[in-house]
Amino acid sequence: MPRRSAPLRLAGLAVLATVAALARTAPAHEVRVRRPLRVPDIPGFVTLRCDFHTHTVFSDGSVWPDIRSEEAWREGYDAIAITDHIEYQPHEADLPTSHDRPFEIAAPLGEKLGVLVVRGSEVTRKMPPGHFNAIFLKTSKPLETVEWRDALRAARAQGAFLFWNHPGWRGQQKDGVARWYPEHDEILAAGLMDGIEVANDREYYPEAHGWALEKDLAILANSDIHDPSNLAWHVHEGDRRPVTLVFAKERSEEGIREALFARRTAAWADGKLAGREKELRPLVAAAVTIENPKLAVRAGDEGYVRLRNDSDLRLVLEGEGAAGEVVVPGKLVVAANGTSLLEVRVPKRTAPGPRRLELVYAVSNVRPTPDAGLPFPVAIELEVLPPAPK
Ligand SMILES: [Zn+2]
Ligand SMILES: [Zn+2]
Repeated sequence: MPRRSAPLRLAGLAVLATVAALARTAPAHEVRVRRPLRVPDIPGFVTLRCDFHTHTVFSDGSVWPDIRSEEAWREGYDAIAITDHIEYQPHEADLPTSHDRPFEIAAPLGEKLGVLVVRGSEVTRKMPPGHFNAIFLKTSKPLETVEWRDALRAARAQGAFLFWNHPGWRGQQKDGVARWYPEHDEILAAGLMDGIEVANDREYYPEAHGWALEKDLAILANSDIHDPSNLAWHVHEGDRRPVTLVFAKERSEEGIREALFARRTAAWADGKLAGREKELRPLVAAAVTIENPKLAVRAGDEGYVRLRNDSDLRLVLEGEGAAGEVVVPGKLVVAANGTSLLEVRVPKRTAPGPRRLELVYAVSNVRPTPDAGLPFPVAIELEVLPPAPK
């Protein structure tokens, strides 16, 4: 057998080495995978999934900033803001205080993955006025001020979007109830409050939802995450951190900015969706399709309206349980990413013939106001057939 030339032998070794390396690094599981958050667009706007409140080691968080970008990508987000505390730096002895670095470290990976990373900071003061996030900053340095008013003004001078964080946080409100102080009137009157967190982490503040509607503020739901995401949330079991839905003209940083200042947002957290009727109504309409709005049912029998939900929004319908003599469920869950059956029971004595029914439901976990569900009428054309012959 001829001796193989040295280059060929080397090539053979290289192949073996490559195979060995592949075997060694072949993933046992699919790890670096994005799982979509399915929420439909609404007419005229793309729906973006955002988290505008996250921390890193540059304040009291426990992850390096670029981890936030990949977590967000894997969890189906379009955009995040890195918002480390200005006034609270517990890792100061180990890391230099630099309010601009976390964004600068997180942004390049965000760019590679297609996640929009927004520069922000958290102005961290005692209540009142509590904590405020400033996002779309150019630099965080001017926010290092003694007087909180100066910090908010410095952010506004850069064109930042400003919002009140966790207004009912138990660290500042022992009973967990959000309170509006004279300082908040002052901030609002000065044009220094554009939005409010209606949900933060696992808390929901109905008062804040009411204020947002009353005072024309953007409605936000953010995680305020400090730990790695999968330590704080059971992300693999479908447990989700809060999502601010942004209804934007385009998927870009400028698109998000424009939508936030125009108040086109909704807060999706803990299975609830809080917002304004003008966005929630088309959103639910885009998610749910009535597959068979026309059905024929014999008197004394039941038929089914099939409600298909092409989204991750689980919708809880509550209604009157009847439409004329026809009996329908008083409560029905329209499962996420599935088709649910709405049973229509036609009593035996019902007169045969066509009729148009409007089943009156409200989606109890989709809230256009703090205390009422979104109206969700289900219109069907029902043909009642004579009872089955005996
Ligand atoms: Zn805070
Ligand atoms: Zn925070």
